Amino acid sequence: MASQQLQLNIGWLYPKLMSTYGDRGNAICIQQRALWRGYNVEIIPIDTEATIADIEGVDVIVGGGAQDRQQEIVMRDLKGSKASALKAKLDSGTPGVFTCGSPQLLGHYYEPALGQKIEGLGLLDLVSKHPGIEANRCIGNVVFEIVASKLAEDLRKTLGEVPLIIGFENHGGRTYLGKVEALGKVVKGYGNNGEDGTEGAFYNNAIATYSHGPLLPKNPFLADWLIKTALSEKYQTEIELTPLDDTLAMQARTAMFKRLGVNNSERMAS
Ligand code: GLN
Repeated sequence: MASQQLQLNIGWLYPKLMSTYGDRGNAICIQQRALWRGYNVEIIPIDTEATIADIEGVDVIVGGGAQDRQQEIVMRDLKGSKASALKAKLDSGTPGVFTCGSPQLLGHYYEPALGQKIEGLGLLDLVSKHPGIEANRCIGNVVFEIVASKLAEDLRKTLGEVPLIIGFENHGGRTYLGKVEALGKVVKGYGNNGEDGTEGAFYNNAIATYSHGPLLPKNPFLADWLIKTALSEKYQTEIELTPLDDTLAMQARTAMFKRLGVNNSERMAS
């Protein structure tokens, strides 16, 4: 299939309300890596103005972090038909990356430090609770191994290894997983709750994580996994991506691993 014919529609959840923590970098990273390969790209905001057809037309979904107050507004708007359309997309295998406040909304509920419990979409079997305004926020660099089996397998197939993920977390809420698979196992940092060593969640082709950074420019192979999965699902044929020169990103990763005292080469998930 000629690359010019390929069209990637990126759905971006509430860009104005859910961009507090720099996660727009994930949308830009997917967009740019697709453009470099000659694909047509459109970014479609999934916000208060969005229609159900808009949601149905996206190939990959990006959701960023937000403050508790914004999460409440988003959840009020998302309820009902928009929530069902989003659910249907993720259930049918549309890939996505949901960071921090977004996974809290995809779970059963989020209990903020102040105010009422925010009901979530119940798509991921997890709950999130803020332990209160006196509690420390979980802030800092985070490194984790990918344990989600499909994602790890796909990355090993493409890269020959499963690289560590590096990012930056900043959350008050603590997430507790039910039956949903964890995305990763924490090497450095807090992850979901600072207690059980889990980080994020993985559902169908949806990555849920506490890791900002933004995540994708720091771990470009994840952006490529999203693009490849999105296009392969859309065109129902295995799409191979042209490799890009990621030397600078890889050097930045090496510098961060060194700074954090993490031996990257010995820390590949097995
Ligand atoms: N408001 C949520 C929390 O503090 C999410 C924060 C975020 O998205 N970084 O837990």
